Amino acid sequence: MTTPGLLPPGSTIGIIGAGQLGRMIGVAAVQLGYRTHILAPESGPANDVCFAFTRAAYDDPDALAAFAEAVDVVTYEFENIAADPIAAIAATVPVRPSVAALRVAQDRTAEKRFVEDLGGRAAPWREVDSRAGLDAAIAAIGCPAILKTTRFGYDGKGQARLHTPADADAAWAAIGAAPAILEGFVRFAHEFSIVLARGADGAIMGYPPPVNVHADGILASSALPAPAMVASQWTEAAALAGRVAERLDYIGVLTLEFFATDTGPVFNEMAPRVHNSGHWTIEGAQTSQFENHVRAICSLPLGPTGLTARAVRMENLIGDQVTRWPDLIAQDDAHLHLYGKHEARPGRKMGHVTRIER
Ligand code: AMP
Repeated sequence: MTTPGLLPPGSTIGIIGAGQLGRMIGVAAVQLGYRTHILAPESGPANDVCFAFTRAAYDDPDALAAFAEAVDVVTYEFENIAADPIAAIAATVPVRPSVAALRVAQDRTAEKRFVEDLGGRAAPWREVDSRAGLDAAIAAIGCPAILKTTRFGYDGKGQARLHTPADADAAWAAIGAAPAILEGFVRFAHEFSIVLARGADGAIMGYPPPVNVHADGILASSALPAPAMVASQWTEAAALAGRVAERLDYIGVLTLEFFATDTGPVFNEMAPRVHNSGHWTIEGAQTSQFENHVRAICSLPLGPTGLTARAVRMENLIGDQVTRWPDLIAQDDAHLHLYGKHEARPGRKMGHVTRIER
């Protein structure tokens, strides 16, 4: 891909997807004088802050072609979109991060191979493409284990745990008999993530790693500074994330999730985008992940990524936890973010709150 020059403020950033990540990218974009144009099949949280909206399927070639003509750069806020139609518009408009990054990150098998080739360590895993294949994978890896669909998983969806081999039928049915991987269960002390931004000039700025707690496969909280064990595994994990970014000639914000174990960091998965475990950066870092994403894709210099406080803690408001908002907004140290979603369904991310300790 040819690297275009700097996109000046006033340019239009195309965002594929209308969720809360697109909304927060949009807020950062307008702050720097850019406009955003969203493409999504349905309106969502990002529509409240966008300049233009194309309602279309993510794989609608005509709509994508018109979208590509109307914007100056295209980015995406989630990875469960068909890559080929996006590749088709990359000839017209820069797509950042690249379609190559999208292809790797949307396929667990490709992602694990890619990261292992770069020296990363993942939990033991096997591809599973049939019920008999699951038995073979169990024989190789043992239980407990987790069966994960190769594609289209998020927030713990498309996953089933196997405590014993007798759980195989139920697990296979639970993921819809889809192509999958079986992954050995990692006995981790903590989960953490590396969020970094890589600029169009190749400069990398990494954020300090939060310790992440999940409930039912969904991120519940991210807190910094992380415990000493995570801090001691930061350098190795960040170096791996940097190699991933470089190998992909990545432009934008990239996230890698890890388990901190007694024997070092174990790679879990990557996301070619801003990430929920980076929401704390809005108030807790010198430059937010959203602003650095905008800076990167517009070929601006990146901003510094250091902590602005002694401690930062982000909590997601999931489902009806959002009804706590009147209480939260009354607290001096709480920065409340609501995504403007009307219906608080169970498991749905409705907002988050970040607490800063100076
Ligand atoms: P994922 O969607 O792959 O990030 O999985 C969601 C959550 O499930 C992770 O953040 C972990 O809390 C848990 N999990 C996933 N894979 C494993 C594993 N191999 N061992 C232990 N816990 C896991």
